[in-house]
Amino acid sequence: GAAMAKSKFEYVRDFEADDTCLAHCWVVVRLDGRNFHRFAEKHNFAKPNDSRALHLMTKCAQTVMEELEDIVIAYGQSDEYSFVFKRKSNWFKRRASKFMTHVVSQFASSYVFYWRDYFEDQPLLYPPGFDGRVVVYPSNQTLKDYLSWRQADCHINNLYNTVFWALVQQSGLTPIQAQERLQGTLTADKNEILFSEFNINYNNEPLMYRKGTVLIWQKVDEVTTKEVRLPAEMEGRKMVVTRTRTKAVPLHCDVIGDAFWKEHPEILH
Ligand code: ATP
Ligand code: ATP
Ligand code: MG
Ligand code: MG
Ligand code: MG
Ligand code: MG
Repeated sequence: GAAMAKSKFEYVRDFEADDTCLAHCWVVVRLDGRNFHRFAEKHNFAKPNDSRALHLMTKCAQTVMEELEDIVIAYGQSDEYSFVFKRKSNWFKRRASKFMTHVVSQFASSYVFYWRDYFEDQPLLYPPGFDGRVVVYPSNQTLKDYLSWRQADCHINNLYNTVFWALVQQSGLTPIQAQERLQGTLTADKNEILFSEFNINYNNEPLMYRKGTVLIWQKVDEVTTKEVRLPAEMEGRKMVVTRTRTKAVPLHCDVIGDAFWKEHPEILH
């Protein structure tokens, strides 16, 4: 019958590749917006940093952490986010494709779902896409170095973009001229241009732009007002209810160095 027929075909399952992530290692999924250079232009992102876009990215990452299992920390900047699954996670038997596709699809659908909450007067013009990859890190040190690498990337790009857009927006240089002006400059040179020509102290730029966003689980007191009504009453009375929930909370701090890891030993325990 039908069951016999199905069992006859089922050998095709053996063609599926085994993509189990090595046991006891940190599993990282990084996603990145597809062609967001263009997406940012079409949707009138503020340059160099559109805070609506960054907050939307973080909302999507919080949704991923809350909907999926076993994510202990996430880090985001620009159009990318990295999610770290706990070492002992056995979610979907540690299949890389499951980790990656669940993270990326949940993130992408959230991006569209929450768009209007962050871009009130900017319609979403076409469906955005994201790529994903999985990287497995065998030790706490390699995981910390991975996150440090992404944060260093954030710093370098943001410093460059801050000077670049100051030259374009405030000094009237063309993008080509600004690029030429910055060719071969070091960090100190860029800080100096910002300070002497634009009176900008880079260290006073918003932390979210300079450091990116770290999401970790923290207990937060949620205060809500609840309307309670006894059967005999017409008007309900307002009651203040406080409950403690564990939420994915955004921080804009250094992950480079020891301080963060000393302050939050539970992340890597
Ligand atoms: P790819 O598909 O290869 O990732 P990409 O165009 O997305 O191509 P990225 O290197 O990922 O290239 O860079 C993302 C680009 O998106 C940035 O260079 C910037 O132009 C734009 N972008 C992303 N987020 C923001 C933001 N919050 N504010 C302003 N621009 C942003
Ligand atoms: P998992 O996350 O493991 O995939 P699942 O609940 O999605 O869990 P599936 O084996 O993928 O399990 O089955 C999809 C289920 O979705 C079906 O069993 C059915 O209940 C429901 N479903 C999907 N498409 C339809 C449809 N067109 N009409 C009615 N029900 C549907
Ligand atoms: Mg890229
Ligand atoms: Mg991109
Ligand atoms: Mg990117
Ligand atoms: Mg299903």
